[in-house]
Amino acid sequence: MARTYHAAVRALFPLTTFGCLAFATTVLAQTTQATPPPPPPSTLRAPTPDDIRRGEYGRYRANNDLRHYVLDVRVDPEAKTIAGTSAVRFAMLEDDTRIQLELYANYRIEAIALDATPLKYIRTGNTLLIDFPQALRKGRTYTVSVKYAGSPQEQGRFGGLAFRKDPAGRHWINTANEGEGSSVWWPSKDQWRDEPDEGIDIRVAVPNGLMDVSNGMFVGKTDLGDGYTRWDWRVHYPINSYNVSLNIGEYVHFGERLGDLPLDYYVLPGSLEKAKVQFAQAKPMIEAFQKYVGPYPFPKDGYKLIEVPYSGMEHQSAVTYGNRFANGYLERDWTGVGISTKFDFIIIHESAHEWFGNAVSAADVSDMWIQEGWTTYLECVYVEALFGKDDAFKYTNAYKSKIGNKEPVITQRGIHRSPTQDMYFKGALFLHTLRGIVDDDTRWWQLVRDTYNTFKYRNIMTEDLIRFFNQQLKQDLTPVFNQYLRRAELPRLELTFDTTAGTVAYRWNAPEPGFAMPIKVGTPAHWRIVRPTTDWQVMPNPDGAAFTAATDLAYIEVVVLDANGRPVK
Ligand SMILES: [Zn+2]
Repeated sequence: MARTYHAAVRALFPLTTFGCLAFATTVLAQTTQATPPPPPPSTLRAPTPDDIRRGEYGRYRANNDLRHYVLDVRVDPEAKTIAGTSAVRFAMLEDDTRIQLELYANYRIEAIALDATPLKYIRTGNTLLIDFPQALRKGRTYTVSVKYAGSPQEQGRFGGLAFRKDPAGRHWINTANEGEGSSVWWPSKDQWRDEPDEGIDIRVAVPNGLMDVSNGMFVGKTDLGDGYTRWDWRVHYPINSYNVSLNIGEYVHFGERLGDLPLDYYVLPGSLEKAKVQFAQAKPMIEAFQKYVGPYPFPKDGYKLIEVPYSGMEHQSAVTYGNRFANGYLERDWTGVGISTKFDFIIIHESAHEWFGNAVSAADVSDMWIQEGWTTYLECVYVEALFGKDDAFKYTNAYKSKIGNKEPVITQRGIHRSPTQDMYFKGALFLHTLRGIVDDDTRWWQLVRDTYNTFKYRNIMTEDLIRFFNQQLKQDLTPVFNQYLRRAELPRLELTFDTTAGTVAYRWNAPEPGFAMPIKVGTPAHWRIVRPTTDWQVMPNPDGAAFTAATDLAYIEVVVLDANGRPVK
């Protein structure tokens, strides 16, 4: 998801050049345009009962496994209402008499049924506890239908389900609800751990003349004979419930193919010519990710870009786009180093989510860096593929200025608490740092491909990635993952120079027990790899005042201490 970033404070970080005791700390301050103040730190606010009902993967979620949804709705643009049925098919993992679904409290529930049998239910906030007259049996598959109707209330950054008008005054209705959740507009198991293995059928009836574009493959349209036409879409893969989307408007379509993969574009009529120019970036981007990461994950569903009135969102196989058909991010040089202007940030970022976020997904919001850190890193991969390694490193390191290091990237699990924006930029720079540790590009790209291949179509936690990296690299990187993701502060490389002896003493200062990682030091022309631990070590320093650490290859803080252990100003 693309977000609005609050700017104000920027981390201080040293440049790579410093000299002996005459070390001069250099501060990079970046100013950006004024934006609203940051939200409260994610870990300081106690969870409410609603947070826990929403976030906890409790008994009535864990007792079943989603198989498939059929969502069949009618949207009335004049009345601004939605009505229809969500049929949820699931297998029971335990014998039990109750399951939990979600639907926002502002909707009316007309009936809930198991096949033809009406069911009783309890609504608490947005939670829906559905009771069965007899226990459902472990191993069997059931379908529960929820018939509902109501008036969506616009909320959240992108509106949830928003009834808007396009510039020509025609209806333009879109969903975007990653934060609010799928239940802001349809009855669903609104959590991250469980995705329907066999996907979803989405059927959306809209007044004749309007079109609905949803996720998946277009199946067909049916004139319902009452002034409405139903548009049918089929998703063949597991999908995060927040990714299920409808986009209703008077869209025009154009398309192309990448081998067997259809690339379909839906834009407003007035945008067609601009879109034909701007969306030409899609094909080389997909080729780049296929080369560096792996095959496009949803070939049966195709790939789509759909124009919307907000900046953009990674709706699976139906990426929504509102970046004004211009390079950069909302016409800004997003990373401020002249590289963001070479490509369309929203096309690249939101589409990169097809690989990480949509195919490889976090199982809890706490670990959302798996969505956003990896995707931000894939921007860097895209830059490397199209513009070369120098630009990629410049682009990646420019993200340091957006990092706060005020609280851990990973939040408390089970309370649906989104991490701070560090999950994007620190997540990406952490992966860049891992690349530095691997120190072998062939090996690194193989590892990226293997990570994707191993975890695609799965919902995972950071522990799964740690186990995988440790196995693949045959070393224990757990303290490195923990330091970067579970602690707020950066690892600090402490240096003390002895000019008389011609030596430098070095160690890591990091709170994570056992933290150690190799780092390149010396001069850019002659890097040496040292392996600091949290104990002091001493080595000769033939580089004198030119001694530096390769902070463009690893996201660290470097501090020079005097002989008394005080930072040198
Ligand atoms: Zn994103």
